Amino acid sequence: MAKIHVLDEHIANQIAAGEVVERPASVVKELVENAIDAGSTRIEVAVEEGGLQSIRVKDNGSGIEAEDCETAFYRHATSKIANGRDLFQITSLGFRGEALPSIAAVAKVSLLTASSDDGKGRLLEIEGGKLTVNEDAAHSRGTEMNVRELFYNTPARLKYMKSIQTELGHISDAMYRTALAHPGISFTLHHNGNQLLHTLGNGDLLQVIAAVYGTLAAKAMLPVLAEDPDYRISGLVSRPEWTRSNRNAVTTIVGGRYIRSNGLNAAIMRAYHTLLPINRYPLLVLKLDMHPSLVDVNVHPAKLEVRFSKETELYQFVEQEIRKVLLGENLIPRPGRET
Ligand code: ADP
Ligand code: MG
Repeated sequence: MAKIHVLDEHIANQIAAGEVVERPASVVKELVENAIDAGSTRIEVAVEEGGLQSIRVKDNGSGIEAEDCETAFYRHATSKIANGRDLFQITSLGFRGEALPSIAAVAKVSLLTASSDDGKGRLLEIEGGKLTVNEDAAHSRGTEMNVRELFYNTPARLKYMKSIQTELGHISDAMYRTALAHPGISFTLHHNGNQLLHTLGNGDLLQVIAAVYGTLAAKAMLPVLAEDPDYRISGLVSRPEWTRSNRNAVTTIVGGRYIRSNGLNAAIMRAYHTLLPINRYPLLVLKLDMHPSLVDVNVHPAKLEVRFSKETELYQFVEQEIRKVLLGENLIPRPGRET
């Protein structure tokens, strides 16, 4: 008798959820990225009890057509890429078609969405991967996702959740970094009814920095902007005189997505080397632009890590350009260059 068989879709989704949905913050990140990909200009997030009780993400983006709603929850179902070539030219935040089925496999989810301004929309409810409601419902253009009782059917995962405060910390961190990466979108975050973040979405990165780190931090920032044939870096870096006691305020952004890169962090710290007191750290928001073919974003299920094809050059460029700004070299007219 054959011993090998293909797992059914629900189990496959639960396994995928193990990677994609590590904790409530992963749900927030995935839903907010979907909202951004849908072209939203306003994204409101409200969570209860560190997101373990409920997570609501409401956007004013394109919405989902009624006939696509159920498909959106299938595994590997996506509107963002169509073929193998697209995989090397990714311009959206999502592309794997895994978030919605994974989340729906381990929570109670409702989707309320409309893709036109006529007030006609669609409501779906899915519980532990099973569709229970799929009907017409009034809604204005955009999408509202509600995720309740995350991990209610995976007790092993639920047991590993930390305190509400810790889970909330991860959620705010994801929201702060996303807001820093998208100053043109207005974000709000509420926890148990209290507002923790509000950005205006007017495109002003300093406003976002003020909302996240305070107005004093915003006043300490210096602009950086540099380009070489492969890379463009832009953003704001803190003056060496203004420092922080923790190292978590470095946000690096590639293709609209904040990423974790030890190599970039090390390059940044080399730029500040000898300029900061010991155990003090800078605040940076650094956006890197490059041709999509120079970066592979498909190396991590949550896409937090990426692979650069010319990493040594990139790190050197980042170090050198930040160093210039910190030493004020850009402000000093070079001899022989004046007209
Ligand atoms: P991916 O983002 O990788 O495509 P998801 O599982 O996150 O996969 O979402 C599946 C599809 O559902 C998306 O490709 C998109 O077409 C649609 N979708 C999800 N969320 C939204 C949203 N907030 N607004 C519009 N469309 C959405
Ligand atoms: Mg997605």
